[in-house]
Amino acid sequence: MDKHKKQRMRMVETQLKTRDITDARVLKAMETIPRHLFVDEGLIEQAYNDNPLPIDANQTISQPYIVALMTQALELKPTERVLEIGTGSGYQTAILASLAFRVFSVERVAALAAKARKILDQLNYYNVAIRVGDGSYGWKEEAPFDAIITTAAVPEIPAYLVEQLAVGGRLIVPVGKRNVQDLYKITRLSKNPQDIKKEELGGCRFVSLIGESGWKE
Ligand code: SAM
Repeated sequence: MDKHKKQRMRMVETQLKTRDITDARVLKAMETIPRHLFVDEGLIEQAYNDNPLPIDANQTISQPYIVALMTQALELKPTERVLEIGTGSGYQTAILASLAFRVFSVERVAALAAKARKILDQLNYYNVAIRVGDGSYGWKEEAPFDAIITTAAVPEIPAYLVEQLAVGGRLIVPVGKRNVQDLYKITRLSKNPQDIKKEELGGCRFVSLIGESGWKE
């Protein structure tokens, strides 16, 4: 077994199973997807550590546990279509792509989107579409989505995104201030986009969403 596979198995055992990650499909995806390929060469040895890491453009690849927690909360089925706001390194995108039918991902920084596209192509994730732009507006032409995940923080639950959820669809989003937020799970209950169930999943710390639903810069 190669070194990185061993590191991934250890990550799953010590960082995920010991916390509240129980979904077998999520655990399998985390054990399979080569996270070290999504970080810069100089950080490969830290790729499976229990913390976020810097990527280009002053952004971050989230801590493995947070990726697993958000993914588990999405409750993805293999037939479902999911929207991601904040492609970043493309690691979370790969996890989603291995669990859902199609992934639509929006990234504000063109260079990050291009780098993520390249590695996702190398790993044969053909069910991923990436677009450069302000994810505040979602991806209207492809809506509704069974699930939406926002990997950048917003001050309030973004109405555009709730509108693009299918009935029964789930939105996972960090909501709060620029330096600290709470992770929310929003479930759309009916055709009326105001008719939602709101659950709090705990405290978190994400980079800010820059755009209409977030901050200016
Ligand atoms: N999930 C990513 C990963 O696995 O590497 C980490 C994403 S990082 C925490 C948040 C990302 O959101 C950054 O890449 C940032 O450029 C992006 N972002 C910020 N504002 C955005 C916006 N308005 N629309 C789309 N992406 C945005």
